[in-house]
Amino acid sequence: MPLFSKVKKLAFICAKCFSEKEDKLAWFVGSTLFNESLLCRTCWKGQFNKLTERERKEWSFYVPKK
Ligand SMILES: [Zn+2]
Repeated sequence: MPLFSKVKKLAFICAKCFSEKEDKLAWFVGSTLFNESLLCRTCWKGQFNKLTERERKEWSFYVPKK
């Protein structure tokens, strides 16, 4: 019997919309109300859009528009 078979999946709840349905939450760090919060994809993008250009550049995946 696998040792961890009864370990429940951790509850990941979005800090903004409180959705538990999202299977992918991301840690958000930025100068918004939800600094250092776990957010779902939708809310994360919303907060990201509130950041300044300079702050967005600190995220490695962000490619500034030319
Ligand atoms: Zn959310």
